[in-house]
Order: sequence, then C-alpha cells, then structure tokens
Amino acid sequence: MKDSNCIFCKIANGEIPSSTVYEDQDFRVILDLGPAAKGHALILPKEHFKDVCELDEAVAAKVLPLGAKIGAAMKEALGCAGFNLVQNNGVAAGQTVFHFHMHVIPRYENGPEMVTWTPGKEDPEVLAQTAERIKNAL
Ligand code: AMP
Ligand code: ZN
Repeated sequence: MKDSNCIFCKIANGEIPSSTVYEDQDFRVILDLGPAAKGHALILPKEHFKDVCELDEAVAAKVLPLGAKIGAAMKEALGCAGFNLVQNNGVAAGQTVFHFHMHVIPRYENGPEMVTWTPGKEDPEVLAQTAERIKNAL
C-alpha cells in the first residue's frame, strides 16, 4: 500500500528525486536533507507503514541487515568510526514523518555527542513492577 499524501512514499517510489545510495524491490535508502552528520541516511520501505508497530514482518526482517550493510559502506567510504541505527515511533519519540524509516547516522572520531541520555536511578521494586506491567500487556 502507498499513501498518496506521504512524501516518503513518493521519494521511496521515485516520484520525487532524492540522493539515493541504495535501492532494491523493498527499499530505497536516501541521504537525509537535514543530516546530523555527513552521510546521514534514511532506510525507506517502498510500502507505507506508519511506524514499527505497523511494519510488515517480512520487511522488518530485512531492515537490520540493510542497516548493517549501509553502515559498513559508510565506514569504508566516509571513514566514520561507527554508526547509530535510530528509529523513532510517535511524536513523543521525535517522529516527524509518519512513514517508517530507520536512520543510519555515521559517527566520526571527535564528532558531536548525539543519541545520548543521562542514566537515571530506579528502585529494584519499581523495576519489577514496571516489568510486570509491560509483560502483562504483551
Ligand atoms: P524522524 O524525526 O525520525 O521522523 O525523521 C525524519 C527525518 O526525515 C529528518 O531527519 C528529516 O531531516 C528527514 N527528511 C524530511 N523530509 C525529507 C526529505 N524530503 N528528504 C530527505 N530527508 C527528509
Ligand atoms: Zn508513506
């Protein structure tokens, strides 16, 4: 399924030009227009899925191997020291385009801090209760 109002559907299916680094029958991988670092790429399925919860399982199974392949190519081609695979779901998580996508963000030696958080502290009892609540919803 495609969504005629979705910009990533149009990009993934070639109706809007993009800086494409990879394409196959299921995906197009493009460079992000607002890169967090040089080479920042987005893995876009050609089918429309709003987020990871809607993603078809057969497509989902191909996303991580493709992320690894793109990241390895970035290390070789751009000389980055590592890369982050980042995937946002929902406004609260920072998702701004509601067509599933995986960011592949090259990380360079001495590059800026990103994809980081301050570790909190939690009571083991609260951890156990929280785990129980999630378990019961699965
Ligand atoms: P997210 O915040 O996870 O939804 O990420 C959306 C990403 O898409 C952002 O990093 C944007 O810079 C990027 N983006 C939005 N529109 C375009 C576009 N037309 N071409 C390439 N990247 C885009
Ligand atoms: Zn779409």
